[in-house]
Amino acid sequence: MKSVTILGATGSVGSSTLDLIERSPEQFEVVALTANRDVSKLAAAAIRVSAKVAVVADAACLDSLREALAGSDVEARAGEEAVCEAARMGADWTMAAIVGTAGLKPVMAALEAGGTVALANKEALVSAGDVMTAAAKAHATTLLPVDSEHNAVFQCLDRTAPRSVRKIILTASGGPFRQASLDQMRAITPAQAVAHPNWSMGAKISVDSATMMNKGLELIEAFHLFPVRADQLDVLVHAQSVVHSMVEYVDGSVLAQLGTPDMRTPIAYALAWPERMETPCEALDLARIGRLDFEAPDPVRFPALALARDALIAGGARPAILNAANEVAVAAFLAGRVGFLEIAAIVADTLARYEPAAPDSLDAVLAIDAEARAYAGERVKDCVL
Ligand code: NAD
Ligand code: MG
Repeated sequence: MKSVTILGATGSVGSSTLDLIERSPEQFEVVALTANRDVSKLAAAAIRVSAKVAVVADAACLDSLREALAGSDVEARAGEEAVCEAARMGADWTMAAIVGTAGLKPVMAALEAGGTVALANKEALVSAGDVMTAAAKAHATTLLPVDSEHNAVFQCLDRTAPRSVRKIILTASGGPFRQASLDQMRAITPAQAVAHPNWSMGAKISVDSATMMNKGLELIEAFHLFPVRADQLDVLVHAQSVVHSMVEYVDGSVLAQLGTPDMRTPIAYALAWPERMETPCEALDLARIGRLDFEAPDPVRFPALALARDALIAGGARPAILNAANEVAVAAFLAGRVGFLEIAAIVADTLARYEPAAPDSLDAVLAIDAEARAYAGERVKDCVL
């Protein structure tokens, strides 16, 4: 029996994780489930899986959570600190599936508690990669990548010979506007941007996928997860999302992981690792798919990729600023306050205006994150839609 905690249990990744756990109730015991403020979804899930604790980050939701859990044995808790406490309750396996920098402290708490942390919350590695990987090492915590590309690379990596890796090639679907012109991209609405052709995901990552900032964040994520230099990381557009990423070796071999685009496959790999478990995912039918297409990403229509690569190469505070500015810009776009093409422009301007020293602790990362958000917020105000 494995004890599990899910941070961000009501989201897209959190729900897929619950789906797998509920299919094998004899294998898992649920310690804690957390959410931001979706009380009814959180309470229903916590009751279904007999969680010990259910936590809402928004303290104002405590009473309604208590009400929703009335008559069950699930304990209701609330507040940001309570989310971190849930991460410290000592589960064998913790899914980190909070979206954005809101996940930084809970991920750190989980890493410090030991056990295995399955990481979907890529922003934690982008903003605080050095601090997070150092904490994992110091506490002998196993960090397993859930992001489908990184999970694919993890599956293809020959851990006995890291020096024989020539390149890691992250595939990208190219998002819903892979073939759109810049003129068309100017007029994109939030509803169009969140409608991803292959994956069903939360709103923020769907917009990131449409700007390709998602792949930029994933370059930085890969740099922290795998023993490679920035110049060994490539991006390849692959519209079908069948090949989830590849590792090229010095002898010319290229290993890839393939599958239908369903997050339950990488989540299951992290959940059962080092073994494997059954999933209800549709089997891959290559004869029906017929062909697999690949193309280089277009740097002109997708400037976010170069912004992220530059931030990765420059290092220091740049990735945290990139991430914070992107979160502000995406939220403003989803709220209808800035246009689609402004997202990358806001990130570029924030990076140009703010140059703090490299952070050496989680608190320093959080301070940079807050300051970068203020700069980006000012820049958002300059945009008139
Ligand atoms: P989502 O928006 O569907 O869910 C986010 C979860 O985080 C929810 O449970 C929400 O309640 C919680 N949350 C939001 N704000 C919070 C806050 N301030 N404090 C505490 N909890 C908060 O997002 P998602 O699509 O499931 O993505 C989650 C993470 O996984 C993101 O970092 C994303 O980049 C990554 N990821 C997602 C997918 C996918 O297929 N959805 C794939 C790869 C990586
Ligand atoms: Mg991904």
